[in-house]
This record gives sequence, structure tokens and C-alpha cells, in this order.
Amino acid sequence: MEKLYQDRDWLYNQYITLGKSASEIAEECECSKQTILSWLIKFGIERRSLNEAWKQKYKNGYINPFKDKHHTPESRKLISETRKQKFENGYIHPMCGNPREDMKNDKNPNWKGDEAGVIPIHNYIRIRKSKPEDGKCELCSKVMDEKEKTELELSFLDHIKKYTRNPEDYQYAHHSCHLHYDKEQRFLKRNKTYSNLN
Ligand SMILES: [Zn+2]
Repeated sequence: MEKLYQDRDWLYNQYITLGKSASEIAEECECSKQTILSWLIKFGIERRSLNEAWKQKYKNGYINPFKDKHHTPESRKLISETRKQKFENGYIHPMCGNPREDMKNDKNPNWKGDEAGVIPIHNYIRIRKSKPEDGKCELCSKVMDEKEKTELELSFLDHIKKYTRNPEDYQYAHHSCHLHYDKEQRFLKRNKTYSNLN
């Protein structure tokens, strides 16, 4: 029997027009994701980049699993105390703060050697990449996020790579979208896979 995914028009419609992921199509066709991917290649249908896959996820009605979920007062207290302890032990947040005199450079357990800090790179990019004129977040394509915030910040596209100085590797996104994007990126990095996105 001929499989649906072996028909270019059908596959194009599923992947491009309907914006389904290869994993979703594979599930519906009861085949492996690899099979779908190889047919996409065979038909010359371009695979979505990680960033595009994310936008597609939002378009398909993706809802941030942390939306409207809050920590209990007890756990909030615990988090704050743990964090305080961390800073007392000499931790320096990469985005802010001047190191204590006795924690500078090689004395700092977090010293990264020659690696440039995040702040200088972000400043470098900020000068070279302007915010979207329409004010839309490049992740959710909306002006306002779930918390009705409109401010956009720089977000690094691909955490699998190291921070780069290429403005193309960055996007402007809401803080909430950025956080969640980074969280997923870290997860992917840990698992070294993009499996559910593309
Ligand atoms: Zn957003």
C-alpha cells in the first residue's frame, strides 16, 4: 500500500501548510520521524530551523506550561534563600554585578578564563541589531506577552553553539518568551537533541 507521506503534495501540505512537525506527522502515519525527515529531503522540502520550528509551535497554539503557575510562598522562600546562599558563596550572575575584590578573576570560582562575558557581547549586538519596528516579539510574533508586557530583549538563538558576535544569531523577544526559550534550549543541550521541535 502506498503511504501518505510518500506523496509530495500531501507531505508538503502537512509540514508546510499545516505546519505540523515531523514528529507529529510520523505519529499520525505510524512510522518513524526519521522516515518523514528522509522523505522531506527526497522531495526537496526545506526543513524548518530551530527558530522557525519554535514560531510554528506558537502558531499551532502552543501554551507556555508555566503560564499562570506560581510557586507557593514556602517554595518561593526556599528559592530566595538558596539564591542568597549562592551569592554569599561568591557566585556572580553573568548578566550583572561587580565581583567582590577577593573574588576577582582567577580567585572567582566562576571565572571563565578568556571567554567573553555575556554583557559585552549583548551590548555589541544591541548596537548592530535594532529592535523590530513593529514591536513584535520574534518568538511569539505578538506585541504583548501573556503578562501584557511589551518590552523586548535580546535572546541568543542557538545555545548549542557558543555566544557569537553575529547579529544574525540573535532575536528580540519578550522576557517571558526568552526565559522559556532558553529553558527549552538548555534542556535540548542536555539531551543533545532537537527531536520534538523539527
Ligand atoms: Zn513573545
